Amino acid sequence: MCEWVKDKRFFARVRPNLIVDLAKHRGAERVSTVNRFLVRAFLGVFTVALTSCATSPSGPPGTKNTSKTFTTVVVDAGHGGKDNGAFRRYGGAEKLATLDVAKRIERKLRESQLRTVMTRSSDVFISLDERVAMENREKNAIFVSIHFNDSSRRAIHGFETYYHSPMSRDLAVRIQEKLLTIHNSSNRGVRTANFRVLRYAKYPAVLVECGFLSNRREGGEARDSEYRDTLADKIAEAIVEYRYGSGVYASRGNAAPESNPPPAGEVRLPTKSGR
Ligand SMILES: [Zn+2]
Repeated sequence: MCEWVKDKRFFARVRPNLIVDLAKHRGAERVSTVNRFLVRAFLGVFTVALTSCATSPSGPPGTKNTSKTFTTVVVDAGHGGKDNGAFRRYGGAEKLATLDVAKRIERKLRESQLRTVMTRSSDVFISLDERVAMENREKNAIFVSIHFNDSSRRAIHGFETYYHSPMSRDLAVRIQEKLLTIHNSSNRGVRTANFRVLRYAKYPAVLVECGFLSNRREGGEARDSEYRDTLADKIAEAIVEYRYGSGVYASRGNAAPESNPPPAGEVRLPTKSGR
C-alpha cells in the first residue's frame, strides 16, 4: 500500500472536498464547464494513483518497486578476499560457500532468460558500499545477497531471509518458502534487518542466510556441492516465479560444480560485519 494512501490526514483532507465536488458536479447546470473539467481531471489523477498503488506498492523515497518489471538480478556473494565471513569446522569458510551458491544462482537465472550481475565472481574483497553502488547502478533490477549463518550455539540451525524495505517482503517470503521445500529444512523466519546492502537498496533487495556453518548437519551440507546446487536451484526458482509466476522455472540440474570446495577449519572469525 502506498504511504500516501495509508496517510489518514491525506484522506481527511481530500475526501470532504471530493464529496463536495461530486455533489456540485451532480448538481449539473450550476457547474461551469471549467469546473467540470477540473473535477474530472482530479478524479482521473486520483484513480490512476490508486490503481498504480494497488499494483505496485512503493518503498521509501528514492526507491523503485521493480518486482513486476525487473530484467536484471544482482547476485551478491557475501564476504570475499580478506573477509572470510563465518569460518567453522563443519562448513569451511563462508566466503567460498557464498561464492559457489551465487555462481550457481547466476547461471540458473541466465538459463531462465534473466540478465545477471555478480558483485564478485572470484575470491576478492568488495566493500559493502561498492556492493550497494553495484546494485543501484542497474536500471531495472532486484538484489539478492547470499550468506551462511553462524552461532556459538551449535544446535541452532535453519534458514533465514532478511529484507528492509516493505516492497522487498514478498521476494523474501517466496525465497524462504522455496528453501523450506528442501528435505529436513528448518524455518527461522523471514525477518527485517538494517543490513547496509538492504537499507540503501533502491530496488527490492533481500539477504538469504542459507543455514548455519556452526551446526554439524548444515555445515556439512554447505560443503556438499550437490546440496549447494539445491540451495541455488530453490533461490533461482523463487526469483523466476516472483517475476513470471508459478510453474515457469525449469531446473537444469547441477549448474556449476565448485572446483575448490570450502576447506575445513576451526578458526572463528567475525561474522556479522560483511553485510
Ligand atoms: Zn555472512
